[in-house]
Amino acid sequence: MRGVRARNESAWLLPNDGTRANHRLRRDMRQFADEDEVDLVVIGCGAGGGTLLQRLARAGWRVVALEAGPFWDPDADWVSDEAGSHRLYWTEPRVIAGEDAVPMGSNNSGRGVGGSMVHYAGYTPRFHPSDFGTMTADGVGADWPVSYRDLRPYYADIEQELPVAGEYWPWGDPHGYPHRPHPVGGNGELFLRGARRLGITAKVGPVAIANGRFGNRPHCIYRGFCLQGCKVNAKASPLITHVPDALAHGAEIRPDAMVTRIEADERTGLATGVHYVRGGVCRFQRARMVAVAGYSIETPRLLLNSASKRFPDGLCNDFDQVGRYLMVQGAPQTAGRFDAEVRMYKAPPPEVSTEQFYETDPAKPYQRGFSVQTVSPLPITWAEHVAAQGLWGRALREYMSDYVHWSCLGALCELLPQPGNRVTLADEADQRGMPVARFCYTRCDNDKRLMRAATEVMEDILRAAGADEVITIDRYAHLVGGARMAADARHGVVDGDCRSFAVPNLYITDGSVLPTQGSANPALTIMAIAARAADRLIAGARSGPG
Ligand SMILES: Cc1cc2nc3c(=O)[nH]c(=O)nc-3n(C[C@H](O)[C@H](O)[C@H](O)COP(=O)(O)OP(=O)(O)OC[C@H]3O[C@@H](n4cnc5c(N)ncnc54)[C@H](O)[C@@H]3O)c2cc1C
Ligand code: SF4
Repeated sequence: MRGVRARNESAWLLPNDGTRANHRLRRDMRQFADEDEVDLVVIGCGAGGGTLLQRLARAGWRVVALEAGPFWDPDADWVSDEAGSHRLYWTEPRVIAGEDAVPMGSNNSGRGVGGSMVHYAGYTPRFHPSDFGTMTADGVGADWPVSYRDLRPYYADIEQELPVAGEYWPWGDPHGYPHRPHPVGGNGELFLRGARRLGITAKVGPVAIANGRFGNRPHCIYRGFCLQGCKVNAKASPLITHVPDALAHGAEIRPDAMVTRIEADERTGLATGVHYVRGGVCRFQRARMVAVAGYSIETPRLLLNSASKRFPDGLCNDFDQVGRYLMVQGAPQTAGRFDAEVRMYKAPPPEVSTEQFYETDPAKPYQRGFSVQTVSPLPITWAEHVAAQGLWGRALREYMSDYVHWSCLGALCELLPQPGNRVTLADEADQRGMPVARFCYTRCDNDKRLMRAATEVMEDILRAAGADEVITIDRYAHLVGGARMAADARHGVVDGDCRSFAVPNLYITDGSVLPTQGSANPALTIMAIAARAADRLIAGARSGPG
């Protein structure tokens, strides 16, 4: 772990006095003028944008991140209250459509410095090597222009920087983690018990929650508010894992700055900067290069809204690829009732997972697979689970007062990328006059079969653990794709280094570049891709314009 501090000092730059944010660093951060032509402007300061910013600032680049949301202060802004945490989510209007329209909001995107990882659960598994070539191996999905081997060193680096805690991981490319596994609570114990009885291997982790002190970040106190923003600073998000180091190395982060359009020169076709709105005022930041990292809905929306005479169908959309192949993971959630008290809220929701069903099994009537993890909803989310059964009034109240007896698992099913699952611009506009995103989503038969299979496995595990009643709801989690990487411009928006095919000084470094999603949670992979893109940019700068 000694090497971590030498390449990313964030955890040591946080205060060591019981407060959670380094206000001096924020106050003294470098400030660029709109007229300064910075080396790179990053749009969005979440998993991908935050990582890229930190790497380039360390390399001496003049970088500024424009972030639509606030610069969170965990002490002042976050509350240990489920309802009070709603302002962490991206709640601006979006139009949803398709046979399986996906509700947008708390479960798929965040806003503010740190991005969606501020209120993500904290699971940080790697993708499997097979994820990078599903078309060749299984005849579905897509092949990536990079391989697992290309990302492996970046996975290991980011796992140290978060840091990740977990048991030795036997699936995919087997590997260990820098921190030992956390002790588990009632929900995790029941998962382990049920899995053991069925001969299913389940493991503790992998979670980006410090197990022991890390720099000035304290140990997890197992209070279970990970999805409400960890007020303790034990759970990783770029706000504490990459932003402090970026500021210390001269990056600027401009919060509450919504980018509405990327400007490209009509003659050269190169990006020249970005239009953004801050405090109700329209401004323009000049930049030598632009990196978009607004996540899977907002990134395609911004590219489409940046149409011009030279790019009439939107930026980087010459081959009608922007917005397509957007994916959500099928995330059915199964709860089981036990006579004994479980009290699933008394631990981080991410505790235990299995990837035994991750790979294609030729004996099964579907391609690809799913993982199963503990989820541990707090009361409002539990009420949604119960109400989705059609239970209301007295019955709902009875289930709610029985909350402490329930255990809950969630699956992540690899739903396949399809061209028709896409973002387009709606007729409706937001408060700034920017057209809102319209997200159309329909599952294919393989997707439906996978979600059914995952549900059966979860119900079996909970029954084997001793549950006398199980109830399941269908839901979706995460977002990836919409500006995918590919071998050429006819099949995607960026190359394997995240550089757009159409505009050579425009990069996309967020979850929208993923061509497939595996059944792993995506944040670690997004950070690894951004860290690799940063290395390629830095190497390119050294060797001159490419
Ligand atoms: C409830 C929940 C639980 C999750 N749990 C997990 C988990 O356990 N493990 C895991 O790996 N993943 C999890 N995820 C998903 C994970 O957080 C995201 O996949 C990841 O953060 C996406 O990274 P990103 O860089 O693409 O986007 P984000 O991290 O979302 O960052 C995008 C940023 O861009 C900003 N932005 C957008 N548009 C603009 C614009 N036009 N101008 C300026 N700024 C803009 C946004 O405000 C946001 O801060 C979870 C997500 C949610 C919501
Ligand atoms: S359970 Fe641990 S990681 Fe989660 S919010 Fe509490 S202290 Fe943070």
